[in-house]
Amino acid sequence: MIDAAGRWIMPGLIDAHTHLSYGNPKLPREDRGRGTTRPELNTLRAAWNAQKVLRSGVTSISVPGGTWFTDVAVRDAIKLGLIEGPRLYCASRMIVTYGSIEDEEPSWVGTPQHSIGVLCNTAADMVTEVRRQCKHGVDFIKLADSRSGETQTIAKEEIAAVVGEAHRRNVRVAIHSRGSASTRAAAQAGVDWIMHTDLATEADLEAVAGAGVRIVPTATFVERVLEFGREVGQDQIQISIDRMKRNMEGLVNVLQRARAMGIKVMCGTDCGNYSWMPYGKMHAKEAEILIRYGGYSPLEAITACTRENAFAVGLENQVGVLEAGKLADITIWKQNPVADIRVLQEPANLAMVIKDGKKVNLDDRAWEEAPLIFQEAVA
Ligand SMILES: [Zn+2]
Repeated sequence: MIDAAGRWIMPGLIDAHTHLSYGNPKLPREDRGRGTTRPELNTLRAAWNAQKVLRSGVTSISVPGGTWFTDVAVRDAIKLGLIEGPRLYCASRMIVTYGSIEDEEPSWVGTPQHSIGVLCNTAADMVTEVRRQCKHGVDFIKLADSRSGETQTIAKEEIAAVVGEAHRRNVRVAIHSRGSASTRAAAQAGVDWIMHTDLATEADLEAVAGAGVRIVPTATFVERVLEFGREVGQDQIQISIDRMKRNMEGLVNVLQRARAMGIKVMCGTDCGNYSWMPYGKMHAKEAEILIRYGGYSPLEAITACTRENAFAVGLENQVGVLEAGKLADITIWKQNPVADIRVLQEPANLAMVIKDGKKVNLDDRAWEEAPLIFQEAVA
């Protein structure tokens, strides 16, 4: 029996887009050359990050990409009870072609082992990489098109080859797609969900709706780029602010059209992809954006961050609701998130987090005081 009189009880939050293993440890003598980073330290750091996520009321996360098989290891350590953390559903390095996001090095260098992309320039190479990642235990494959959506870097036939191979092995497929053509191709090729979709046109969204494919707009990240850009200026940020302004306008349109067309929208944030996307305070920001731009009611937005997000962690109908027979992931809040959705963005508002029927110790403030051991993944 838990006395929660005067409190607000809801399922644990689910973030459909968080990264745990991006970036390099900030250590003396390791600020030059990205080849000096190490999987061992990165794994421990990812495990530490997972603690922070759980202590902000997020009991499940979908991790679309990271270094090595770091996230697979953290997922399994949590499952085995070696460490505390949210339920984790993860991909590994994202499959990219020349010119895709995360193809950062000159072609004679390619994508080194410690990078978060893996170059595959033919459908055959992609299928081989899918098989390799499946062998190492990923829950889904992450494909990635161009960074901001300027060009389409992966052909529909290549996406279809990945989907065919992954689905045959009971592994799902998600894609980073900000562009128009890539979003349409991904929908037609049958991916399980599309991340971003910024520049999708009416016709692209019709293809998405027709295929019954879910989207994870991740507007939180684009909003944060604009906010952070205003704070520090274009020189201090590696992303074009003008381009992201354009993409935010696209996303507002996508959110409104998706709702009208009955496309299922899942809530993700991209926390952990840059040092200025910290864990803890942004995992429910997408709910605020859905209300502000997408015409959602507060309860609909909460449902989007809980029940509707269960698909992104492979646990549809098992998590994201408070119901007998479902997984016992529960949060209790000191303030009313329906009156002000931003309540969910402040861990100090949490009275209790329960994951799998077990109470999480929120008194341990060490997670908040952790030093920032992070520098950008992308130089
Ligand atoms: Zn991401």
